[in-house]
Amino acid sequence: MKIVMLGAPGAGKGTQAKRIAAQYKIPHISTGDIFRANIKNNTELGKKAKAYMDQGLLVPDELTVDLVMDRLAQEDCADGYILDGFPRTIPQAEALDRALSAKGEQLDRAVDVDVPDDSIVNRMSGRRACQGCGATYHIQFNPSQKGEFCQVCGEKLILREDDKPETVQKRLSVYHEQTQPLIDFYAGKGILRTVDGTKEMDQVFEEIRKVLEAE
Ligand code: ADP
Ligand code: ADP
Ligand code: ZN
Repeated sequence: MKIVMLGAPGAGKGTQAKRIAAQYKIPHISTGDIFRANIKNNTELGKKAKAYMDQGLLVPDELTVDLVMDRLAQEDCADGYILDGFPRTIPQAEALDRALSAKGEQLDRAVDVDVPDDSIVNRMSGRRACQGCGATYHIQFNPSQKGEFCQVCGEKLILREDDKPETVQKRLSVYHEQTQPLIDFYAGKGILRTVDGTKEMDQVFEEIRKVLEAE
């Protein structure tokens, strides 16, 4: 199964994508995670990406598309994958389409996790991220059992620089301008399914499973 997750920053794409990946035994591919790993390792790509990410802007398509194409060419993607945070622009979606068509393949579903802007700012200010393993928590809705430390790897949790309210506003406006048009793009292809992302995490997961399993 080849799935794309759509939704505003903080809508719960990552939370749900991890669960779906485990459920269907397919790799979870998050461009945000890949960029953050590059920043941590101080690579050339990481240095370039950071300048955009810190401002709440998208990393340019030229830097993003090849990276994802290389990842999708790896063996573990042969039976499908879940893309989280890619595509985020129409040109990225078109590049993905071309790459898939060239192999006679296509996406099965684009799942839009729908959450209104006013719930987003609250979610983001409570998000805590582990720099060690990439796990994500929420101080109110999904706290770590180890308080300020990651319950998976033990590292200290942080509030991502780009999750501070000023940057979140910018990311939301970038989302509406550049990413939201993908909803119509995938609706036009007949593969869009929308779920209510304001519900509790387990309920959102059940809704997504339903739309993935329905014809
Ligand atoms: P969130 O999960 O909160 O939406 P991500 O971890 O997906 O955030 O992304 C963090 C940042 O990484 C984005 O704000 C953007 O700067 C960059 N980024 C991630 N994916 C892409 C992409 N497909 N195209 C361009 N920039 C991206
Ligand atoms: P995205 O990948 O779309 O940016 P995340 O999955 O990282 O979003 O979720 C953003 C924040 O909101 C995290 O702190 C996460 O724990 C929390 N969260 C995710 N889904 C829900 C939900 N259904 N209800 C409440 N909080 C949620
Ligand atoms: Zn961790």
